[in-house]
Amino acid sequence: MKVPLLDLTRQYRSLKKELDTAVLKVLEHEKFILGPEVNLLEQKIAELCQVDYACGVASGTDALLLALRAAGVQAGDEVITSDFSFFATAGVIARLGAIPIFVDIEKDSYNIDPRLVEHAITSKTKAIVPVHLFGQVADMDPILELAQKHNIKVVEDAAQAIGAEYKNRKAGSMGDFSCFSFYPSKNLGAGGDGGMIVTKEETDYETINMLRVHGAKPKYHHRLIGYNSRLATIQAAILLVKLPYLNRWSEKRREHARKYDEAFKNLSGVVTPTVKNYTSFHIFNQYTIAVPNREELMAKLKDAGIGFDIYYPIPFHKQECFAFLNYADDGFPIANKAAQEVLSLPIYPELTAEEQDAVIETIVKAVL
Ligand SMILES: *Cc1c(COP(=O)(O)O)cnc(C)c1O
Repeated sequence: MKVPLLDLTRQYRSLKKELDTAVLKVLEHEKFILGPEVNLLEQKIAELCQVDYACGVASGTDALLLALRAAGVQAGDEVITSDFSFFATAGVIARLGAIPIFVDIEKDSYNIDPRLVEHAITSKTKAIVPVHLFGQVADMDPILELAQKHNIKVVEDAAQAIGAEYKNRKAGSMGDFSCFSFYPSKNLGAGGDGGMIVTKEETDYETINMLRVHGAKPKYHHRLIGYNSRLATIQAAILLVKLPYLNRWSEKRREHARKYDEAFKNLSGVVTPTVKNYTSFHIFNQYTIAVPNREELMAKLKDAGIGFDIYYPIPFHKQECFAFLNYADDGFPIANKAAQEVLSLPIYPELTAEEQDAVIETIVKAVL
């Protein structure tokens, strides 16, 4: 049985009428840029994150870029982040002329290790960007404590964690700024690119609000050199249709995760994802196992038609574009090992029991 890693057509089919109507409505009212749907979605996302302000932007990447700008990050500043994430997390730091300071991860959560963050702080540190990888929030309390002590801003990369919870606090509710992505493969995905920044402070909101329209307020009066980065109204309309289903979808992912956990628990060759004690709600954007014999397993999954992917095969410190930072490879043993061993399996909400059984059967056979 062929099982895709992700199949978005099933979601579309189940919501086709609502989605088509919402999109056509925007085509009719033609307020394509910052139309009423954007504003409404911002209110709802702010509410979901238990904060006062949200600002729609063009992508999750831009959310990080604008948030770091608003946090005051400038050329030459240092910004601490995880060595193991999607490229955007590190790319935006370097694009501002700041210096990405990579920190190794915890071996069970794959998230930034707060004990190592402390050692990475210098007088030049301007911000910390914890990433909530695979749908589990990073260990925020020690990070927030360090940030407060050293007067450093915290920008949550919550691109994979919308609706996730840490000690009953929502992802996005803890940092000075928090960034979400509506890339189609995220738990809440648009019909294209989209992103959102949430924040607790009105002045921070005002800054983001200006940055996304070329730094102007009012129009044509440019206080800052900003960007063209708005969430498209059509995307907001799509997301408004999907948002009410988000929690149900996350519950489905959690169910699938429990079934995988149960099926793999006695396999010594498979390390299942660790849900940390402080995690009150994991949204499983990915179900990522670690296997020492990954090449072998990948070949067998391919033969069986089972979709999978490697998030992520190369840690930041090894990326060619960051060679100028001169990181020593032996400074990141956990990230290096993770990059060698991780493998993500199909976990989308619409995955059927038969499909999941096929995934499980292939893996059990392969590693026994
Ligand atoms: C998806 C993602 C981003 C970037 O979001 P885009 O909307 O694709 O620009 C940033 N960080 C992480 C961890 C992501 O998963």
